[in-house]
Amino acid sequence: MKRVGVLALQGDYAAHERAILRAGAEPFEVRTLEDIDAAEALILPGGESTVMGSLLVRFGLLERLVKRIAEGLPVFGTCAGLILLATRVEGYTQPGIGLLDVTVRRNAYGRQVFSFRTPVRTKVPGAEKLEAVFIRAPKIIACGPKVEVLAEYEGSPILVRQGTMLGATFHPELVDGAAIHSYLINL
Ligand code: GLN
Repeated sequence: MKRVGVLALQGDYAAHERAILRAGAEPFEVRTLEDIDAAEALILPGGESTVMGSLLVRFGLLERLVKRIAEGLPVFGTCAGLILLATRVEGYTQPGIGLLDVTVRRNAYGRQVFSFRTPVRTKVPGAEKLEAVFIRAPKIIACGPKVEVLAEYEGSPILVRQGTMLGATFHPELVDGAAIHSYLINL
């Protein structure tokens, strides 16, 4: 069984652990350098990207994460996790991983009260139709040439892939099924 780490400094990592179990893999919580090294795939959960970024620096985890992801560790960033992965965050210079060639706009749909869920279509096998949950979600406002768009909503990419990196502006861990988690595990 593949051991899938979930960065567990802050945010909705527990929901991802349940999704990993649904996908038939073994989840574990990542808080140390040893945990990062043990992961065969990694999830960066939703939460608050500024908080996660500063905790990564404070706990001395950022460099090792960048190294492993750059070397091809499959990674899936959802919402705040996508913001951490992005090379550019509009209007911010916050610590992050900076490897997924997209520009994101934080809180692009407005405040918490403007969070919503809506049916979307994706190119991921088994997740052709999906209920997407957006919680103070970012928007991907630009993508580099190596980025493949796997789903869009209202003309903006909401699920993207670049090699072994996946990013979603929504929360697939909060709905039934686990097709996108399975996709990550099999990258
Ligand atoms: N608004 C958060 C941020 O900018 C992301 C929200 C989420 O992860 N659900 O980091």
